[in-house]
Amino acid sequence: MADKFFIRTFGCQMNEHDSEKVKGVLLDMGLEEAESEKEADLILLNTCAVREKPVHKVYSELGRFKRMGDKVIGVLGCVAQKEGKRIIERMPHVDFVIGPRNIYRIKEAFERAREGKKSVFTDQSSRCAVTDLSFPIARENPYRAYITIMEGCDNFCSYCIVPFVRGREVSRPPEDILEEVKILSDAGYKEITLLGQNVNSYGKGLDKKVDFADLLHMVHEVEGIEWIRFITSHPKDFSDRLIEAVMTLPKICEYIHLPAQSGSNRILELMNRKYTKERYLEIVEKIRSYGKYVAFTSDLIVGFPTETEEDFQETLDLIKKVEYEGIFAFVYNPREFTRAYNWEDDVPMEEKKRRLSELLKVQDEITQKLSKSYEGKVVDVLFDREESGWLVGRTRTFKIVKTRADKSRLGHIVKVKITEAKMYELKGEIVEGDV
Ligand code: SF4
Repeated sequence: MADKFFIRTFGCQMNEHDSEKVKGVLLDMGLEEAESEKEADLILLNTCAVREKPVHKVYSELGRFKRMGDKVIGVLGCVAQKEGKRIIERMPHVDFVIGPRNIYRIKEAFERAREGKKSVFTDQSSRCAVTDLSFPIARENPYRAYITIMEGCDNFCSYCIVPFVRGREVSRPPEDILEEVKILSDAGYKEITLLGQNVNSYGKGLDKKVDFADLLHMVHEVEGIEWIRFITSHPKDFSDRLIEAVMTLPKICEYIHLPAQSGSNRILELMNRKYTKERYLEIVEKIRSYGKYVAFTSDLIVGFPTETEEDFQETLDLIKKVEYEGIFAFVYNPREFTRAYNWEDDVPMEEKKRRLSELLKVQDEITQKLSKSYEGKVVDVLFDREESGWLVGRTRTFKIVKTRADKSRLGHIVKVKITEAKMYELKGEIVEGDV
């Protein structure tokens, strides 16, 4: 009987997509996917190190696996890169540790584990797995796909561990990306999301002079792909040329995740973000000046070292001005290796939590109001899954929409009249056939 594997993924879309790549290799090796950890011979945790809590969770999960008998245990992702061999020292029942740049070595690590050998693959200079088109990828969804266009980050925001665990920026050549987009189009995919830690600085270090706006134009030419998204954008690299491409190419969806992190210029400088609140709002204004509704989302941190009530009020002001459809907000916690790690974490936790709950309260009202504004409108929806008798999809603005319809609509872009709007989910009725 074939060995079975089970992967648990934490963190961002980059991790989700890395898990699809690892899964592709394991299936290619003849392994089968298990329904649960219990029935798996190989358990993998694909981890996130951006915040402290998930790192502790990885260790507690690994402790739990110890009691599950004779299984191969592997740790992937950013915690693997950050902790390296410390994981095996603390948890000797772990068989291998693989950082994000080394996931293509999963086969080797599993085979070594079967021979009773431990492996730690965390060489940051390793070739980036994504540059290899023969790398099998087992995508979770048959209609919408992630495509990595660059890896790593050179920005060194003072609170962020990513440059230390995902390495320096490496862009994938445009020809490779285009070839992958064409393969996906031929396979029937309708939507692609171009992935990278900072997609706006795409092209750095490539022989050919090409930037993200050029790449969007090239990808836009591929027939069959109807919707294009990208994540994550850095405001400092959102040039006018890029705004023009995003706002004028019809396949690009009206959804931009544009992390602001703070609304206070003093804090933004301490964070090494390299833009001001005014510049951020100017980008939003320029995008809106094209006259189309665009949904913005953001990442925000409260309680950064030295953040005062006044600084926090600036952040509240920013979210009110932008009117995000949603935010991912967190209290600051120091991360090893980063510049801010050595600074006094001087905002008391109680105060951080108070600011976070105030921020979320204000944001909830905005999200509620914007959700309500969908009621009665007809929107395009790409239905991509079925869930308890509902067809579920997303609008171009990335809102979840549910409807009662038959499965033949799956994988199609359909016009839906929104009849009911909850905070994070819309319900509606199909009003006509495919677009
Ligand atoms: S841009 Fe800043 S926050 Fe984003 S991954 Fe790079 S260092 Fe981290």
